[in-house]
Parts: sequence; C-alpha cells; structure tokens
Amino acid sequence: MSTGFVFHERCMWHDAGNAASFIPSGGAVQPDQHAEEPETKRRIRNLVEVSGLLRSLTPIEAVLAEEDHILAVHAPAYIDGLREKSRHLGGTAGVNTFFATDGYEIARLSAGGCVQLMDAVVRGEVRNGYALVRPPGHHARPSEGMGFCLLANAAIAIKQARAKHGLARVAVVDWDAHHGNGTEEIFYEDPSVLTISIHQDNLFPIGTGAMADRGGGRGTGYNINVPLPPGSGRGAYLAAFDQVVLPALHAYRPDLIVVTSGFDASGLDPLARQMLHSTVYRDLTQRLMQAASDLCAGRIAMTHEGGYSRAYAPFCGLAVLEALSNTRTGTLDPFDDYIASFAGQELQPHQSEIITQARGLLDRL
Ligand SMILES: [Zn+2]
Repeated sequence: MSTGFVFHERCMWHDAGNAASFIPSGGAVQPDQHAEEPETKRRIRNLVEVSGLLRSLTPIEAVLAEEDHILAVHAPAYIDGLREKSRHLGGTAGVNTFFATDGYEIARLSAGGCVQLMDAVVRGEVRNGYALVRPPGHHARPSEGMGFCLLANAAIAIKQARAKHGLARVAVVDWDAHHGNGTEEIFYEDPSVLTISIHQDNLFPIGTGAMADRGGGRGTGYNINVPLPPGSGRGAYLAAFDQVVLPALHAYRPDLIVVTSGFDASGLDPLARQMLHSTVYRDLTQRLMQAASDLCAGRIAMTHEGGYSRAYAPFCGLAVLEALSNTRTGTLDPFDDYIASFAGQELQPHQSEIITQARGLLDRL
C-alpha cells in the first residue's frame, strides 16, 4: 500500500500580499515578503524530489473543490464575497488573509486537493498521504478567513468524506504550532469529529485554544486542546502524544485520522517558539501510524498548514513523508543534531503539569 502526495504548482501562485512577516506594509513597516509565501512549500516538494522519495509516492491530482462541498462548511455570503473579489483585484477574506486575483480559485484547488487525498485514503487507493497545498485552512471560520487561511481545507474534505463514504468517526490531530481554531469551531458541537490541537499556548489566535474549551452540546468532550508552553521540545511533544493524543485516539476509535500538519513548531521557525526537529516529526508520525494501523486500517490523511522556515520546513516534510511511506532515502538533515542539542528538549516540570491536566480531558470519550 502506498502513500499519496498532492502538489499543484498553481497553489504556489496564491499571493498573500505585501507584509513584513505577517504585518501588512505601510507606515513604519517596509514592504517585504509575507511569511506565508510559496517557497517554504515548494522547497519541501523539491527536497522530496531531490531525495528520490517522490518516485515512490503516488501522485494524486488536485482539482477544484466543488462549491456544494465548500458550502457544507462556509456561509454562502462569505463565499459570494470571495468569488467576487477574486474576479477583480482580490482583497481580504478576514483578519490577516489577503488574496489576489483568482485567489478564490486557488483556495478551491487547495481544498480540492485535500478532498481528493481523503477520498483516495478512504477508498483504499493509498494507505495514507499528504496534501502539500496552500493557502492553508485550519484558522478559516465558517463566515470569515483568518490567519492566512481562506477555506477550511481539512474540514471541507472531512465533511465530504463522511457524506460520501459514511464514516462514523473522524479524528483530527493538529500539530501546527498555532491553535486549530477553525477546525475546532466547525466541529465544536459534532461528536462524529474529534478535534485535538497541540499548540503553543496563546500564540494565535490570541484568546483561543484553552483546555476549558471542550466542545458544546452533543459534541461536549470531543474537542481537546493541549496548549503547550513556549520552548516545548521533543520531551513535551512525545509526552503529549503518549499521554493524551494516542489514548484519546484509542478511546475514540476513528475510521480515519486527519493531521492538520504545520512545521512551525520547529526549532528554526520565525513565527513560533517551539523546538521540534525532523526526528521528532518522524517519531510523531510513526506513533500515529501505529495507532492508525490498530484502529483504522492505517488510514491517515495529512493536510499542510503552516511552517515558515525556508531552510528547515523541507527537512520536517521529508521526515514525515519518509515515515508515512516506510522509506529512508538516506538524506541527512544537517540541522537535526543542532536543534536536538537545544537546552530544555527533555520534558520540563511546567510542561508535564499541562499534559497531566490535559489527560483529564479524555473522560468523555
Ligand atoms: Zn501555524
């Protein structure tokens, strides 16, 4: 069984606008490259090719997401606005979410790539896979874009996969350094989708991602937030997986595991303050694969979110894809030992305290 891979150059043509990091230029801010730019993603795809791994992956074509599928998640007025602006010069979809001409079509392609991947995984065409798409999706809310995200890619694909294939339960594991607020909101009252987000405490969006936010109505207990302190490394992430994420998956018994995957928890990322290195991303992927093998015939679909280090995102991406496909290309990560040597990589008492508290969130599953 193979690993699917979605990449479309047109996704790289999405233009997130002129900014210094994520602050729009103007006033004291000299125009510069926006943090959410194509090269961080294109370089992942390039390393996957140069390493030789690409030829052992199964290409899955991204096609435009159907508007019916998009409207299962997003409000019609929001989509009408995106479509209209996209026909002209573009505009903003919400907080910090600029797009240019044709930005809506490119966002449809990004969401559509995730739909195609999930469909292929659920049909058993591939065992697992990764959609390396942009713009990202996990911050997008039903009625507005947010945090570089226009459409809720993973949520759109999950709703479509559930409708088409009758999946009873889907689990989302969000390891992006930022809180997966959009995915959380969309499924907040829905017990058929378990949402788990491990993120840097109060990084973005400010004021979301608390442990107290556990879902609502029939969905109470089916949203789990693990807000790790800044400076969390290998020890904290492995403990969060071993003590919270994996027990939650085993209790929930999903038919499909979706990972909203950002590499901005890496030790070199400019937008977050965590310390992961590629070996940890490999370890986390292997742990999820073991759980998926035990629970849902190995089905894992990963959709790409953040990750803003041009130098380092490629090595994190390669490690995850090597793990998913049970392959080692022999490509060395020249940063791995350096980041692994950062002080505080082992589990710290204040991190352990948070993870112990988060274990209490499993009681409703
Ligand atoms: Zn992020």
